[in-house]
Parts: sequence; C-alpha cells; structure tokens
Amino acid sequence: EYKGPTYEQLEHLKSKHMPPAIPNSYKKPVLLHQGHMQWLFDHEGKRYLDLFGGVVTVSVGNSHPKLNAALKEQIDLIWHTTNLYRHPRIYEYIEKLSSKLPDDLNVVYLVNSGTEANDLATILAKAYTGNLDVISLQTSYHGYNSSLMGLSATQSYRMNLPVPPGFYHAAHPDPYRGSWGGCRDSISQVAGACSCPGECVSTEKYIHQLDELLGNSVPAGRVAAFFAESIQGAGGVVQFPKGYLKRAQELIKKNGGLYVADEVQTGFGRTGDHYWGFETHGVKPDIVTMAKGIGNGFPLAAVVTTKEIAAAHSGKSYFNTFGGNALAATVGKAVLDVIDEEELQKNSKTVGEYFIRQLMELQKQHPVIGDVRGQGLMIGVELVEPGTKKPLPVSLVKDIHEEIKDNGVLVVLGGRWSNVFRMKPPMCITKADVDFGISVIDDAIKKVTKK
Ligand code: PMP
Repeated sequence: EYKGPTYEQLEHLKSKHMPPAIPNSYKKPVLLHQGHMQWLFDHEGKRYLDLFGGVVTVSVGNSHPKLNAALKEQIDLIWHTTNLYRHPRIYEYIEKLSSKLPDDLNVVYLVNSGTEANDLATILAKAYTGNLDVISLQTSYHGYNSSLMGLSATQSYRMNLPVPPGFYHAAHPDPYRGSWGGCRDSISQVAGACSCPGECVSTEKYIHQLDELLGNSVPAGRVAAFFAESIQGAGGVVQFPKGYLKRAQELIKKNGGLYVADEVQTGFGRTGDHYWGFETHGVKPDIVTMAKGIGNGFPLAAVVTTKEIAAAHSGKSYFNTFGGNALAATVGKAVLDVIDEEELQKNSKTVGEYFIRQLMELQKQHPVIGDVRGQGLMIGVELVEPGTKKPLPVSLVKDIHEEIKDNGVLVVLGGRWSNVFRMKPPMCITKADVDFGISVIDDAIKKVTKK
C-alpha cells in the first residue's frame, strides 16, 4: 500500500525544487510505487506494462527476486569498498563480465554512469593515441557533462555554450532519414530487408563523408577516437546500413584512432542475435562502454578495453570513490547470471522479432506509422504525416503517448523531432505482453488520429 505524499503534494514539490530542465514526460505523469518484472504499479495500484524499462535500464526485470536477494545478502556484509582492499564480489564480477567479450578486451574499469564511462573512454583514447580529436555521429547521445556535450549530438541536450575543441560529428548513416538513405543491418531480415548482396549501396557515400571530415576538419592521421552506439538510442533507434561500422572502423584506424562502441543501450543481449550490439556489425571495438542495463537500475557502468590501451595511464593512478563498490558489483554479477539462467538474449530475439512483426502489421492499418525498425528488444516506431516523411506534429504524438499511458502501457519518445516511440522493455517480456501492448497502441492511434 502506498503511504507517501499525495500526487498533488509531489506536483507542488516538483515545481518548487526540481530544475525546470527536468521536463514532464506526460501531461499527467505516473506516480510509481512498485515494480515487478515487466510490470509497474502506481500509487493507486494501477498496473502498467513497462515497455521502456526506465530508459533501457531495467534489463532483467523490475525488482527481480534474484537481484533483490543478492543485494540483501550483501547489504548485511559490507556496502562500500575501495580499491585499497580486495573484495571477492568485484573480482568475480569483472572476471565474468570480461568472459562475455572478445578475449583481449579484458581490463575492466567500474564506474557509475554512462557519462563517466564515455568520458573515461575519451581520456584513454587520447592518452593511448596521442591524438586529440574525437568523432561521433549526428543524433548520437553519449552522456551529459561539459565535454560530452561536445561528443553527443542530440540537440535537445546541447546548450548554447562552447564545448571543448576537438569534437566532430559525421553524418549519421540513417536509412530512413539520412542524406543517402540506405538499408538496415541484419535485423532487416525482419524490419525491411537490405537487398544489397554485400555492403549496403549507401555505405560508400556515408564513408566518403567521414573520409572528407577526416581530411579537412580533423587533421588526417590525427584522430583519437570514433564513438558509435551500435543502434542509436535517444536519436530514435537509428540502425546503420550494412557495412558502415566496419568501414568506419577501418578508416579511423588508418587515421590513428580507436573505435569506441557505446553499448549503454544495446548491450547485454538486448539485440537478440548477439550479446553485444557491435557483434551484429562484424566489428571488434578497442574500447566498449556500458551502463544502464548493466545494473538493472542500480548505479553501475563500465569501460572495458585491452591491456595495452589501459597502460596509457602511464604510471598515473585512476580514482573513483564509488566505481565498483561491493553492492554494485554484486548486482552486476547477478544481472549477468540472470541473463544466462533465464536465457534472456534468446527471449529478446524471439519476442523482439514477434513485436517488430506485429508493429509492421499495425503500420499497414495506420498511415501515421512511417517506419518500424529495431533489433531484438530495441525497437522504434516513427510517426509521420500520412504519405510523407514529415514528422507528425509533436502535439499529436504526445496525445497518442498520453493515451497509451492512460491505458496501462509505458513507452518513451525519442528522435530529433520527438516523434519516435521507443520500446526497450525488460528482456523478460512475453508474446502475450506484446499482444496487450500492440492493442493499446492500436487503440490510442485510432482514437487520436480519427478525432
Ligand atoms: N550512452 C548512451 C547510448 C545513452 O543512451 C546514455 C543515456 N541515455 C548515456 C551514454 C549516458 O548514460 P548516463 O545517463 O548513465 O550518464
């Protein structure tokens, strides 16, 4: 039973103490009280299907019993540890985490957030290569601090302030909206197959643009790193054309730089076919950054790299008070165990493909659905004005979004025009849940667009 402040009291506290930069996600936001696996319950006991997992964070299920038990056991032993001492949970965890990655990616930094992880990755790449320039993609999101505001290219988070020099953005290779169009990578078996025999025909053009950036803005041969999400998240679930990441990595390597795979949203089996999103692209990064689902909601993140790159600290120490504390490492290890024991990667594949297929059926009935895309349980539905690619006006998108919530399903908006429904649920979701979600989304679109 909910015993906290009333809804009205919380609204008052929000307007008084919360920064205005923390917007309302809904006209009438949900007051959460409890979570269980793919379900959330509000203060009045109303049930919601959690199709966004608290920003792609709840990987194995809200308040998963196995995680709760592991956490409770550890709480009674010790909360906090530092690198001054040894602690078994931390070492067990980093051993198991590196076993999930290619062999030489076996040095693990434990940190607290995706922002910290990507910031540390830029430091490592610069120190290792001796170069200073960093390239990422338009509409990417890699975190929020004074330097990552330069790395991220999602306009809604970029303030009108100077960012440190040395950040450049290449054209995002977006098959739906990118300058040269294109087809999708392997998912495309499900969401609109790429018929190109090898590399997608558009890849050459996007690579040419990256090459021009390297020869002009960034001095040739002097790049420190290229950052890419394996499927863009906040940018609106953007998948890249076949071969793009492979060619980009080759080009960056030729110019002296490292490839950093941001697996903050795409890691831990979410994309279904593979444990890591980069594997779909047939590439092996030099550095992998992880956050969100790594801790199922507990503050934990990581940077994994090779011994050679980690040696770039060249005698200096790395310090992070909370990074890799005993509680976080305990949860992290339990998350990895649950993904294995409950075969959640496999579930992501089967339920994800089913979800995408059902959404494609829905697209046939609703001309406002311009594009359905994704891989596994990383899914996007882009809303447009019928018969065009013009983003559906945000007021209509928000009405549909609100209606979906009122009928017991939570999804989140994303993309440059906030017209993409993003669905990235806990990986324990079932086909029956998908059927429920689809019927709610169907009714909401009908209701709002036929008004
Ligand atoms: N990378 C990606 C791909 C993300 O989606 C996010 C968060 N939305 C981050 C990095 C930053 O993570 P955090 O909010 O934990 O700092």
